[in-house]
Amino acid sequence: MIQKSVNLNELKEHINSFLEKEIYKNKNIECCPICGGKKHIKYGSYKGIQRYKCKKCERTFSNTTNSLWSYSKKDLNKWIKFVELMIKRKSLRFCAAKLKISLGTAFYWRHKILHGLKVDSIPNKLEGAVHINKTIVVENFKGCRNITTTKRSNIWIIAAKGDEDSMLVLPAFKDCWMRGIFYEKVYSKIQKGSYIVPYNDRYITAIAKEHNKKSLKERKEDDRVGYIMMNIMRWFSPYKGIATKYLEEYLSFFVLFNLDKMIDYVDIISYLSFGEKFIRTKDIGLKNK
Ligand SMILES: [Zn+2]
Repeated sequence: MIQKSVNLNELKEHINSFLEKEIYKNKNIECCPICGGKKHIKYGSYKGIQRYKCKKCERTFSNTTNSLWSYSKKDLNKWIKFVELMIKRKSLRFCAAKLKISLGTAFYWRHKILHGLKVDSIPNKLEGAVHINKTIVVENFKGCRNITTTKRSNIWIIAAKGDEDSMLVLPAFKDCWMRGIFYEKVYSKIQKGSYIVPYNDRYITAIAKEHNKKSLKERKEDDRVGYIMMNIMRWFSPYKGIATKYLEEYLSFFVLFNLDKMIDYVDIISYLSFGEKFIRTKDIGLKNK
């Protein structure tokens, strides 16, 4: 679940605590992000962030190299505010006006963040009572040029949640149930000895029958999965339609709003600041799903 009640006036304080907590203190650079070399020296600072120089390749880097905002000319503060507005699910137009950035920049930032969040958000395994449901949305070509067809496919979204505090929600197939893909994307993550709790779908019910060795003493519903259609529709409504090619990214973002763990935008910023979260602007929008 994401805490939305963050006071804008407290932002500065948050930024400082974030920078202090994450960049200055906790993170030790282990190796050069460019060549992997183990030896480096301190090499001045930029915008208050320590830089290093690798002794092997002689390139300079910092803790934020390859973070989401690497190579961005805009201040980190703007990114942080942008993440906050994104959590409030404000429109791109609103974000652009508020932060005085172009609509194009707002679009790319949103997709960089969605991409960064997607990197690790998919659970590796589902165990215990694994609740599975599906919902169907109509294909959406928003923002695509040169669409000549009037045909729109049905996109099947599968939602699965086991005992862990994570959730799998992904566009799985077009138009009809595909058992092979279900096995690959969902079933392969279900651990032995777990129990499938199916909701309102004959295919999922059939798989549950095959899989479940014993019956569950009492079936507890999980509304996050049980009402997946309503939950998705409600959550998506501020976006006024999402292009199908970005659906997977948006759904991983949606998952963050459905966890038990409370996280706020400072956690998200910290998460996005480290590791290989970076995606080049030119790679956004090329993925064809
Ligand atoms: Zn190096």
